Amino acid sequence: MGIFQPEIECMSRDEITAIQTERLIAQVKRCYENVAVFRERMDKKGLKPEDIKTLDDLKLLPFTTKQDLRDYYPYQLFAAPLKDIVRIQASSGTTGRQIVAGYTRKDLDMWADAMARQLMAAGADDTSIVQVSYGYGLFTGGLGAHGGAERIGATVIPTSSGNTERQIRFMVELGTTHLCCTPSYAMYLGESVNEMGFRDKLKLKAGIFGAEPWTEDMRKAIESSLGIRAHDVYGLTEIMGPGVSYECEMQSGMHICEDMFIPEIIDPDTEEPLPAGSFGELVFTTITKEGMPLIRYRTRDLCMLNYDKCDCGRTFVRMMKPAGRTDDMLIIRGVNVFPSQIEEVLLKVSGKEITPNYQIVVDRVNNTDTLDINVEMSEHMLADDIKSLTAIEAKIVTQLRSTLGIGAKVHLVNPKTITRSEGKAKRVIDNRKLH
Ligand code: ADP
Ligand code: ZN
Repeated sequence: MGIFQPEIECMSRDEITAIQTERLIAQVKRCYENVAVFRERMDKKGLKPEDIKTLDDLKLLPFTTKQDLRDYYPYQLFAAPLKDIVRIQASSGTTGRQIVAGYTRKDLDMWADAMARQLMAAGADDTSIVQVSYGYGLFTGGLGAHGGAERIGATVIPTSSGNTERQIRFMVELGTTHLCCTPSYAMYLGESVNEMGFRDKLKLKAGIFGAEPWTEDMRKAIESSLGIRAHDVYGLTEIMGPGVSYECEMQSGMHICEDMFIPEIIDPDTEEPLPAGSFGELVFTTITKEGMPLIRYRTRDLCMLNYDKCDCGRTFVRMMKPAGRTDDMLIIRGVNVFPSQIEEVLLKVSGKEITPNYQIVVDRVNNTDTLDINVEMSEHMLADDIKSLTAIEAKIVTQLRSTLGIGAKVHLVNPKTITRSEGKAKRVIDNRKLH
């Protein structure tokens, strides 16, 4: 498996620290000079750019939040004049109002490098045919993956999302070797490929899937339905887009592009930085971004960093799969529940009887929260009797209770009755907000 930029991706820890320190100092100065909001916050803390001398000083700096991006929408956090901004992207707006990000020419170049690292880590090179089935447009997925695929000289098929039959026809007829899309869409494509009987006609080797949380079991399900290796890729619009971190062939955590971003893990309640290896909220400082550099941006993603040596040879720290976002977390009858925990249980139980398509419905009846989970049964199950359906429902309920610590109602529904997603899946319907 090739490494796109070994001189960067395999630097020693000392080299990484040296580069990060130099870039951090320059970035803080740049933000202080060009972003009024940041300057005011520094002044309020009695801080001057000269006070930031080492990576350890990072903790002195003020945080930036998603709310800041909304409050200072659209351009007040930009550090470059608009004439130097060559692209605007927007977040997919999963949570609340959209925010925008601006990129200079250099920012787009760095982004292409980051995604190129990911593609090569998934075994792609200039002989590969990369189908980009992430949505193109304001969402960073499509254009982000596209930039990386062009950077490594691959042949790009920019199908964008949707039109599943055509996606599969292209995959077969054009001989796609690498697929980029959300994991939920990959599941759907896998399901459709098998239904169409095209599985053996695929030339697919690997897929790069991200932009939403997914579990290890979902990875296995995708790998077996498409016959490929599935790599995880992480990113967010505020920081750049996909490629902030990328998974190598070891498939055990995503290497963060530490030459571009400094990660920290903090306690989301006290905002204190936590020691290496702790689980908490991921915070990024962008040290090369010119358009919209963010200092100590709180991602709200909960995860852990792993500084152990990786067998692939890359030295960038790895982040574990985010367990969810602080704002994804459901509080049901006072208990914290992440949709990913429910998915894990379903995928463990899934097999012959149920499929991994599900929807979580939360409501409040007589002042008590209710949790209902609709799960599609497999075609094969349709013919079975009510007794065995009830037994499967009961099995899932028991497993959920032991994982979550609360009761849930499980309903097996007919195959293909839960809407498939072409982008990010909408797994949770929280009707409580409507009351
Ligand atoms: P929005 O916040 O509107 O969804 P983005 O498209 O920028 O906009 O989404 C970024 C978020 O998507 C991340 O903060 C994270 O919560 C989630 N995400 C992205 N990639 C992954 C991944 N590989 N695993 C888990 N979550 C991810
Ligand atoms: Zn690795």
